[in-house]
Amino acid sequence: MTISPLMPVYPRCDVRPVRGEHCHLISEDGTRYLDFAAGIAVNLLGHSHPGLIGAIQRQAATLMHVSNLYGSPQGERLAQRLVSLTFADTVFFTNSGAEAVEAAIKTARAYHQSAGSDRYELITFANAFHGRTMATISASNQDKMHKGFAPLLAGFRYVEFNDLAAAEAAIGPHTAGFLVEPIQGEGGVRPASLHFLRGLRALADRHDLMLVLDEVQTGMARTGTMYAYEQYGIEPDIMATAKGLGGGFPLGACLATERAARGMTFGSHGSTYGGNPLAMAAGQAVLDAVANEAFLADVRDKGERIRAGLEQFIGNYPDLFAGVRGMGLMIGLRMKVDPRPFMQHLRDRHQLLTVAAGDNTLRIVPPLVIGEAEIEEFFDRLSSGAADFAIGRAA
Ligand SMILES: *Cc1c(COP(=O)(O)O)cnc(C)c1O
Repeated sequence: MTISPLMPVYPRCDVRPVRGEHCHLISEDGTRYLDFAAGIAVNLLGHSHPGLIGAIQRQAATLMHVSNLYGSPQGERLAQRLVSLTFADTVFFTNSGAEAVEAAIKTARAYHQSAGSDRYELITFANAFHGRTMATISASNQDKMHKGFAPLLAGFRYVEFNDLAAAEAAIGPHTAGFLVEPIQGEGGVRPASLHFLRGLRALADRHDLMLVLDEVQTGMARTGTMYAYEQYGIEPDIMATAKGLGGGFPLGACLATERAARGMTFGSHGSTYGGNPLAMAAGQAVLDAVANEAFLADVRDKGERIRAGLEQFIGNYPDLFAGVRGMGLMIGLRMKVDPRPFMQHLRDRHQLLTVAAGDNTLRIVPPLVIGEAEIEEFFDRLSSGAADFAIGRAA
């Protein structure tokens, strides 16, 4: 292997994809993989969706980028659609999840500071993941992301996830709000309890705090509703969305109610690329495919079928698997051992791609467009993978 000119921040594996066909990836050496990782919950429509490709091609030939110095009919149209589909009144477009969370953090602080208060602190939760910028690593308690990057940004206070009493106890004179994932993704596909998320909403209402949801991974139909908060019967004040939003094109957004966004005035924030016509076209094509009840019902149905199949399957390997959790097509297979060797085994021996996450969990986040054939292929590869993995461990 030659030395890579890429900064060595990623522990990359030997799979080197060069082409995608629907729910499969083909590597440089011609090997075909079933992709139940989907670019880490990004490629909602798989890899060769004609609607998404056509929209990007047409827009690329029409107008790619102009900057935010000019009016944006493309941005207004996509923002209007997101507003109609969600709690929000207003949208700021970004190029990534971390930037969407950054915008959400700024919006929460500015909500208070524009009204003369000096509140700035966000209460965040153990094992959260909000991105890799300075603010978003500071928002997470995970030391492995902090090492070498001191000093962190001030203004975050960590408490245990799903511990409502601890969240309430952490509220102080500087508290501006809560920042939370409805289902912790990197943290191990751990859903917030109904009691916890509804409790945070009630605390935010009582203390005039911002409830900021990070739906970067859970959003855009992944959990079987457009956004996961719908299944909790609450609405946030501010929300970050990205990953699936562009279906593979870099696109994120910070959504907010008009009230929550009261501090985000002329000149307060910006992005050179954010909301450019090419990204807007990608977002429209993804919404065209996913933002309808039939598609969402199908995601819920496929999620339930995979989940039921997994529940049955893990009974055969009580030493390996501890349980199944998640919502829709964001599924976590909890293991009794480090999930990474099993993930590698599935990848290298059975050409099945999944993602390891925290809390000993194997993350299963396929394209939302999988069909019967892909589900069957998934269980075939998983079953043979578990069988020889278990034999290998016993030997
Ligand atoms: C992936 C992710 C992010 C960061 O998104 P990037 O596009 O990598 O910056 C933030 N929050 C959550 C919950 C994520 O899953």
